[in-house]
Amino acid sequence: MYKTDLEIAQEATMMKIDEIAKKAGIPVEDIEYYGNYKAKVSLDVLKERKNEEDGKLILVTAINPTKAGEGKSTTTVGLVDAFQKIGKNAMVALREPSLGPVFGLKGGAAGGGYAQVVPMEDINLHFTGDMHAITTCNNLISACLDNHIHQGNVLNIDKDRVVFKRVLDMNDRVLRQVEVGLGPKANGVERKDGFNITVASEVMAVLCLADSLMDLKEKLGNMLVAYNMDGEAVYVKDLEIAGALAMVMKDAIKPNLVQTIENNPVLIHGGPFANIAHGCNSVLATKTCLKLADYVITEAGFGADLGAEKFLDIKCRKANLKPNAVVIVATIRALKQHGNIAYEDLQKENVDAMLEGCCNLKKHIETIQAFGLPYVVAINEFATDTKEEVEALQDWCKTHGHPMALSQVWAKGGAGAVDLAEILVDLVEMENNYKPLYEVEDTIENKILTIAQTCYGAKDVAYSEEAKEQIALFEKNGWDNLPICMAKVPTSLTDDAKICGAPKDFTITIRELRPSLGAGFIVALTGSVMTMPGLPKVPAANRMDIDEEGNIVGLF
Ligand code: ADP
Repeated sequence: MYKTDLEIAQEATMMKIDEIAKKAGIPVEDIEYYGNYKAKVSLDVLKERKNEEDGKLILVTAINPTKAGEGKSTTTVGLVDAFQKIGKNAMVALREPSLGPVFGLKGGAAGGGYAQVVPMEDINLHFTGDMHAITTCNNLISACLDNHIHQGNVLNIDKDRVVFKRVLDMNDRVLRQVEVGLGPKANGVERKDGFNITVASEVMAVLCLADSLMDLKEKLGNMLVAYNMDGEAVYVKDLEIAGALAMVMKDAIKPNLVQTIENNPVLIHGGPFANIAHGCNSVLATKTCLKLADYVITEAGFGADLGAEKFLDIKCRKANLKPNAVVIVATIRALKQHGNIAYEDLQKENVDAMLEGCCNLKKHIETIQAFGLPYVVAINEFATDTKEEVEALQDWCKTHGHPMALSQVWAKGGAGAVDLAEILVDLVEMENNYKPLYEVEDTIENKILTIAQTCYGAKDVAYSEEAKEQIALFEKNGWDNLPICMAKVPTSLTDDAKICGAPKDFTITIRELRPSLGAGFIVALTGSVMTMPGLPKVPAANRMDIDEEGNIVGLF
């Protein structure tokens, strides 16, 4: 029997956070303690090193995953330990977990096995309160907006065209559609509303793209909240609360310092939904790591079609980051799924299906090549993989000339990715031609077509009538010169979750477009994207417990 992630994390001998800060080169006066093992890092660390050279930036992405996830976070965390093992100064920048999936199905997001970030319980629960700050900031906007309408509505807001929703960090499907202001007149104006999960809030995306507190304030002010009775846009700044919102976020804007179970420094900060937003940790955390370490490893949600594309087209472009190499995580089980094997049968050996599924890996490799970046395939090894399957995948990589390494970090920690780290040390030194796929000045349709053809292998893009009208409105309002944030199912290259492999000649349908004017991108929704998930029949919460001494069990 294997130990659970929680058992492994609880056995870790943590170092005090000031020692981790020292290891990372952060002066102790630049950290704010949140207990013994967590700290906020002052933005001065970045400011004071403005003119220093950046380390090398490595992105961890993956093939289209199964519903269980293929180990991007696990590989990312294991890699920093591997770099340290070969004597290199490395750090990780990760996303913060959301409580929704913690109590729901997917579980936490602090790595797995012997490649984890600790204190795992805290990171997965309330951590340093960033999620609460974001929830408060978001809901202050909603409260002020409804109050404005109630108190005379000087801005002439059309109560049926409020586009900004309330949020909660919980999977709670009954809140997807609600009515507010019911009852006597004193309860406010009645209107239809709804809740998103906190990580889907634009406030989260804004936090992750801001490069200072003042930039955060400006971006929050630019968020679209509603339209007035003349169809004109109403922004947060019209409500005159951008200052209060930035104040609420004064600590949340600072990256959080923790450690791996091998005592290496990690910044965990921000965690926007990878479908409705761009799915990467904060620019501030990534940039701070780049000033402190020679090698910085970070990840972006889901496969390269979604996460890497948005990392490279949105985050790196906006933050002027220069990525140096990409790790593409592949698992034998997901490749078998792409070879048309049912989820229940993925544990059975099937070399032929696995090789058939390599078309999916090939497509993601082509995507990274299209961005002009060097890459290495990391085979994230599972105990259920057979020797024949692993060798066949290694041979496939060799035959097609793809750099590759086996990653055993889940079972062995940093020692399990020494080969991978050594390959990366060489890869990051290569000259690369990184360039976003499209120019933001191009039309919305051309930008979406470029992404769909290059990263998904689609032939064409179709638009609903609503989407066509939205494009016309965005052009009229001058909102069209923004990058595109695609919202698509993660498990398939298409917009149909059931289609695996690497299909060609298909059409992607854009149902709706949403302007995220604070974050600075246009969300293009394919199919239906859930922004408030529900809980499964038996939530993970049912397994969890805590005893008299405060010992936690069942948290994965
Ligand atoms: P992703 O970041 O791609 O969503 P994670 O790294 O969060 O994936 O891993 C998803 C789950 O799979 C976690 O519970 C993790 O412990 C588990 N996992 C990852 N790699 C392995 C492995 N090689 N063997 C067994 N379990 C693994």
